[in-house]
Amino acid sequence: MMEVRNKYVSIRNNIEGAPQESDFELNTEMVSLSVEPGSKDVIVKNLYVSIDPYQLNRMKSQSSSQNAINFAVAITPGESIDAYGVGKVLASGRDDIKKDDLVAGLLSWGEYSVLKEGSLLNKLDPMGFPLPHHVGIFGFSGLSAYGGFFEICKPQKGEKVFVSAASGSVGNLVGQYAKLFGCYVVGCAGSQQKVNILKEQLGFDDAFNYKEESDLNSALKRCFPEGIDIYFDNVGGRMLEAAVANMNTHGRVAVCGVISEYTNATVRAAPNMMDVVYKRIQIQGFLAADFMKVYADFYSRTLEYLKAGKIKVLEDISHGVENIPSAFVGLYRGNNVGKTIVQIADE
Ligand code: NAP
Repeated sequence: MMEVRNKYVSIRNNIEGAPQESDFELNTEMVSLSVEPGSKDVIVKNLYVSIDPYQLNRMKSQSSSQNAINFAVAITPGESIDAYGVGKVLASGRDDIKKDDLVAGLLSWGEYSVLKEGSLLNKLDPMGFPLPHHVGIFGFSGLSAYGGFFEICKPQKGEKVFVSAASGSVGNLVGQYAKLFGCYVVGCAGSQQKVNILKEQLGFDDAFNYKEESDLNSALKRCFPEGIDIYFDNVGGRMLEAAVANMNTHGRVAVCGVISEYTNATVRAAPNMMDVVYKRIQIQGFLAADFMKVYADFYSRTLEYLKAGKIKVLEDISHGVENIPSAFVGLYRGNNVGKTIVQIADE
């Protein structure tokens, strides 16, 4: 039986604060390249894997997120880490997936993945687009941006939209969808270079570097003299408090993520709840998996925008399984511009 050596990333220990590269190690195991008769396993050579902030919540010894949904279950030190990605099939026990097919699904932070029956795995037609687009914009980042904005924020044309982590994978797409829909859009990000990209390449109406602002409340007052109608929150913490203080009556806050709170259990947003009452603000969290019902709409609309050159794709791709830890810790240091992806092997 043919076997290959599989290098994969695991955590050495549970992680409680900001992740460091030393929290990770590279392990090896042997993986069989054939499927036992009768088994529905699929053996995949990983090509591109997704690097996402939520993985940190899985790496903690404890987090309420770990009981919420299968995707978010706890990660055990030493074990392989499942992650969304695109790969090529080496062997398959399934009738609908054959050797050499391209697939997208829950692969792993390693060189090879063995997917058991029932795992998230679909045959992929790249539709002429580069494979990384199927990890980012056509993957859960795109779906979160689209579903979070249209289904949760329920925008009206002309409304004023604020997006945090706006140069990130989800945030840059929210801003672009909102502009295409006819909203006024302001984003915040952690460097001048990112602010320039938002304004000059992505068509945001305005943007600011939150690290240079001594008072977030007045920064938002300056950008939104008439108030915020929609806040798409990727960061939580003090930015959420400042956004609520600047919301208009009947404003909506879509809580996609609270990355500033993932690394520090003592930091929790405390928005002024009297503002929430008197301005009748709706604050709603969501998970991308909630939007499978709009996936077809999301896909066709995004495909159309891309073909027409109306959406720009921002990707931050590094190479090699050994660089997964640095790509991941980079999310928490603001190193990435756009979707963070690691290319594991040549196509
Ligand atoms: P991303 O925005 O591409 O990368 C993370 C970015 O967050 C960094 O580049 C950094 O940019 C910013 N950041 C890091 N630490 C921060 C802090 N302490 N305060 C403020 N900003 C900080 O990541 P993403 O994949 O698009 O995810 C964005 C958010 O959406 C995350 O909260 C994630 O958990 C959430 N998410 C939720 C779902 C869902 O289903 N609900 C799906 C996907 C993502 P700066 O330079 O701007 O600081």
